Amino acid sequence: MKKHHENPDSCTTCTSCVVHCPVTQAVREFRGPKLAGPAGERFRLLEDEYDAALQYCSNCKNCDISCPSQVPISTLNMKARAKYYKTHKQPFRDWILSHGEQMAKMASLTPGLANLGMNNFISRAVLKGLGVSDKAPLPEYASETFSKQFKRIKQKPSANKAIFYPGCFVNYNQPEVGLDVVAVLQANDFEVIVPEDLVCCSSPLVVNGYMDEAEANARKNIGILEKYVQMGYPIITACTSCGLMLKQEYQELFEIEGVEQVASRIYDIAEFLLELYDEGNLNTNFVKQNGKFMYHAPCHLRVQGIGKPSLELLRMLPGIEVIDADAGCCGISGNYGFKEDKYDIAMAIGSNLFETIKASGIKTVLSECGTCRQQIGHGAGVKTVHPISLVRAAYGNK
Ligand code: SF4
Ligand code: SF4
Repeated sequence: MKKHHENPDSCTTCTSCVVHCPVTQAVREFRGPKLAGPAGERFRLLEDEYDAALQYCSNCKNCDISCPSQVPISTLNMKARAKYYKTHKQPFRDWILSHGEQMAKMASLTPGLANLGMNNFISRAVLKGLGVSDKAPLPEYASETFSKQFKRIKQKPSANKAIFYPGCFVNYNQPEVGLDVVAVLQANDFEVIVPEDLVCCSSPLVVNGYMDEAEANARKNIGILEKYVQMGYPIITACTSCGLMLKQEYQELFEIEGVEQVASRIYDIAEFLLELYDEGNLNTNFVKQNGKFMYHAPCHLRVQGIGKPSLELLRMLPGIEVIDADAGCCGISGNYGFKEDKYDIAMAIGSNLFETIKASGIKTVLSECGTCRQQIGHGAGVKTVHPISLVRAAYGNK
């Protein structure tokens, strides 16, 4: 895990971050991470100024990945954005997009109606009026949340326990991913615990400047997870943005007691399974499948510095071929590409990936991040699946 300095002065003006920023490549107005981040921070520290160009930063973190001096560029940007909105009016659109958990809770009461409501042209027009693009690939709500479905699973008891943090997308939009995680952990003799009262990891709150609410969520999650870490249990995530928050961004953004201890026990599901493999404990009783797939590594996985564990795992599965797209950011960056004024930028950023997928002729793309999957399906016209679903299928129990 990369440790970042808090000090913008560690910037050596090498410009590596500028070269690797997908938004700088797509938008002339964005002056790039070096100026928006460390250089802008020096200026903001002196003048209490907000650089208008900061509005373009998507928090994709490609700048952080490339920075040899470990300057927390994207975090400086997010902190500056939050500070700006303390004294300036923020669009209601940003509140809607950053409070997906509350919206989903309301929708989960009547999911059929919610999807009908989201997907008819009148509500899309209302959302467009608020600043959400009517072309944006908004995810549908599931008919029943993961948490509810999880409670009905009759698990095989085991002395090995693992905590699963589902996150909003899995819980409200694609619970089948969470069910696959549970099935795979059970196939490896782990009994899964999903603590009640976990809340949104805060990723959408942070990118939209709702830093106080983000910190409250972080404190709540850390308070819950800390108890399990003290009991020696690993904490598993299946969304790379949730994982990044719990592992790294909480530490960069907030001062919370116990956060480092919790972070040291957070695992992406594929990362966890590879550790089991290295210890000789992974169940490799895989059945043969057929098919050719492309894999997209989300930016929020790449910044974790753990390689591409899903790709390694998928390549152990007999009968399937997986090609790494290796074609950069998909552009969506959480809810960035849902915004009316960012939709075209997001599509331009993702175009290299979409073209790579289309040129391959492959019809199913694998990726760990829910909104990356939405964007890839939208931009490349393919089916998208979480890698863990193929692992579950390889255990022959689906
Ligand atoms: S987080 Fe992404 S968009 Fe923002 S400055 Fe860094 S590379 Fe550019
Ligand atoms: S990559 Fe890091 S050191 Fe280089 S210009 Fe950007 S912030 Fe400064």
